Parts: sequence; structure tokens; C-alpha cells
Amino acid sequence: MPDSTASARSAVLRRSFRKSFPAAVRGEGVYVWDAEGHRYLDLSGSAAVNLIGHGVPKISAAMAEQAKLLEFVHTSQFTTPVAEEYAQELLAFAGEHFRDGAVYFTCGGSESIETALKLSRQYQVEIGQAARYQILSRQQSYHGSTLGALSVSGNKRRRDMYLPMVREFPHIGMPYCYRCDFDCSDGCRNCGQQYAAELERAIEASNGEAAAFIFEPVSGATLGAVVPPPGYLQSIAEICRHHGVLLIADEVMTGMGRTGHNFAVDHWLGHGKLAPDILVTAKGLSSGYAPLGAVIASKKVVDAIANGSGAFLHGFTYNAHPISLAAGRAVLRHLQAAKLVEASDSSRPGTAAAHFKQSLENLRNEDAVGDVRGIGLLWAVEFVADKSSKRPFPPDQNFAGRVAAAASKRGVLVYPMQGSVDGIRGDHLLLAPPAVITQDQISWSVDQLSASIREVK
Ligand code: PLP
Repeated sequence: MPDSTASARSAVLRRSFRKSFPAAVRGEGVYVWDAEGHRYLDLSGSAAVNLIGHGVPKISAAMAEQAKLLEFVHTSQFTTPVAEEYAQELLAFAGEHFRDGAVYFTCGGSESIETALKLSRQYQVEIGQAARYQILSRQQSYHGSTLGALSVSGNKRRRDMYLPMVREFPHIGMPYCYRCDFDCSDGCRNCGQQYAAELERAIEASNGEAAAFIFEPVSGATLGAVVPPPGYLQSIAEICRHHGVLLIADEVMTGMGRTGHNFAVDHWLGHGKLAPDILVTAKGLSSGYAPLGAVIASKKVVDAIANGSGAFLHGFTYNAHPISLAAGRAVLRHLQAAKLVEASDSSRPGTAAAHFKQSLENLRNEDAVGDVRGIGLLWAVEFVADKSSKRPFPPDQNFAGRVAAAASKRGVLVYPMQGSVDGIRGDHLLLAPPAVITQDQISWSVDQLSASIREVK
């Protein structure tokens, strides 16, 4: 065990006192270098953050230019040109349903989730539905690490210790077809409807107190890139609409092109009437160049406040920080010019995402690999101790963590997680490389991953 006495310890309160962390000093394209000169291929885009690649000079130049001009003003006193222009561009990127809506900028995913939860509550109060305050959500979800975001999350490992401090609302089951409670032999049509019906029952049981339902269109960290079954999202959107419950799509991980459409909901809901009322995004929004998140609210939600009390009762000192917005706006322009959303489309032949999907299929040959799933450039590899029974590894073996450590030694970065089966058992890796990854880099890194899995098994 490493020495954790105060004199030997880092002055940084790191994520773990047991693990050693190399010092990262430089990034370029899909690579990150540490202080000792080791090169790592970033196959997880940090934590599904980086879509445009590291070290794009245009982004740092845009940030520097903004910093020289004006580093910060408070949103209670000023708006800024960068905020106004960028919000317009993001509304257009979000599609027709968000026309005449508005964007609330934050410093990341959790702050954005908190904002969306409070915005939903205020919306209901403004339209005369003050009894509505509950936020329904799903088990096995992850919406962030602040207490409000944790209350709607289902990630057992990340939540349990803090539960006494958290206000709980109902969590419903979610489709996870590799380990489904229902018969999936019809291509999961039935199971999607069964899970959607669970939402309807939960809304009815709330006795008119449900304000919103929050979900990840493609599940992120907790379940690992589980894609919804056909018809499921349409049904939950219809149920919410029917019951006057706002639909919040948490696209912190999946938004801004990661899945091959601007937002993941576009795969299933298009831009039509069934679109979410509120879209939450972060991570790829700035690709990690600056702390940034956004809540994109539809006209219906914004109008309720604008025509009602006239003020959103919420705020952070650093919301709409000009330097973060300059980074985000430059990232958006860059990803559009370089066609990186298209490159992230795994259904489009010849794209980085199509190559990635095809290469990952090879991992199914490994004894320890039970499932390979995902969409676009967001994928997961689930490990099992026994393929036919799908029995997971004992959690204390930390299988995913050990594969990640072996891959890191080979120069490949992945995002290991545990808990996919029941919140405690189940190991998977999340893979979300930058869209600039080449076919050769994909082949090489997937080979390294295969070798790492075999090494640990
Ligand atoms: N929502 C989802 C779906 C996420 O994946 C995350 C982070 O992984 C969050 C919210 C929280 O975002 P942040 O870590 O930026 O606070």
C-alpha cells in the first residue's frame, strides 16, 4: 500500500489515496503525454468529454482572445456578446423544437442538472401547478455528484453513503436488454413498453406531485452505453406530455455529437413534437477545454417564467463565464466545420465511429467479454466470469479496474466502472474516443484492449 502519511501525501485531495496518478503535461489529437514522456491514446475521451481531440490551437486562441478583452462580468449586471451569440447557435444546433427557447450556462454537468431540476419546479409553480415538485428518474442512472443530482441518480456506489442527506423521489426500472426482466425475443419492443408503463404508474402514484422525469437517452457511466429499445423513448415522451410532467433529457455525456446526431434523442424522437422540454448538456460542449455546461429550455418552459414572475430564482457566480463560453463557441464551430458529428455516426459507412463499432465487435471473442454495446462514439464492454450464465465477476476482484490499469500500462486510456448488474456487481469499460481517431489508431488500441483483458483474466 502506498504511504499515505501527511508528509508523503499530495497536497491535492485526489480521487484516491490508493492509486498513483501520472502527471499529464500535454495533449494533441487522441494522445495525452505524462511528465515522464509516456504517451497514452485517449480511448475514453477522458470521461466521454473530449470529442474534437486534444490541443486544438483555435480553441485556446479563442479563449485567450476573450480573456484579453473581458475575463468576467456577473450575470446580475451584464450579458455579453459571446453569451448572446453562442446561445443562439446552440438553440439552432438543438433543433426546431428549441426555436425561441433559451440557454442557461453553467460550469458543468452537475450544476446543469441542479438548474434543470429547479427550472422544472419553477415552471410548474408558474403555470399554477405548485403541488408538483417530485422529479422521477431511473434506477441505474447517473446525473451528477451534487446532492440534488445524486437524489435523482440511481448509481448505488456513488449514492449510498450520502442517502441520509438526500431527498428521495421514485426511481423506475430501465431497459437493459442484456439482462432484461422481460422477454426480449421480439427485438425488445415489448420490454420497452413494459418499462414505459412503469413510468406511467409512478406518475399516477405521485398523486399530481410529479414535476418532471429525467433520463439519459443512452445510459452513461452507470450501465454503460445501453441504447433504448425501439419505441421506448416515444412512449415515455407521450406519457410525460399526457400527464403534464416535463421531460428532461440528460445529455451531459451524449450531447454535442457524441452519438452521431447533435443530441442522442434525435435518433428516436427526431425534432418533432415529442422532443424533450429541457435538454441538459456538458462534457462535449466544451470538449474539456473549459468548465462548461448548458441547460437548453424549450419556449414553453421559458415563456412560463417570462410571462409569469419574470425571474428564474437561481444562479451561480460563474454562470455564463465568458472564457468558458468562448471555448464552447469555438468548439461548436470547429466540430461543425470539421464534420465531427458525422464522423461520430456509427451507421454511416467509413466514419471513425463505424470503424470503432466494427473493431469492438472483435472483443466478443474474449472469454471475459459478455456484451459490447453502444452507438456512435459511446460504447461499453461488459465483462462476465461466465458467458453462458452471464455471471459477473465478484466485485472485490475489481476486474474492470484491473483491465483499465493493464491498458494504461500499454498506453491506452479507458473508463472502468462497476455496478452494471445491480449497482454493486458487474464490470464494464466505457469507451468514448475523440472523433478524430483514425482507423489505425482504433485497430491498435482495440488490440491492446484484447491483450489487457487476457492478461487480467
Ligand atoms: N449527467 C450525466 C449523464 C453524466 O454522465 C455526468 C457525469 O459523468 C453528469 C451528469 C455530471 O456531470 P459533471 O461530472 O460534469 O458534474
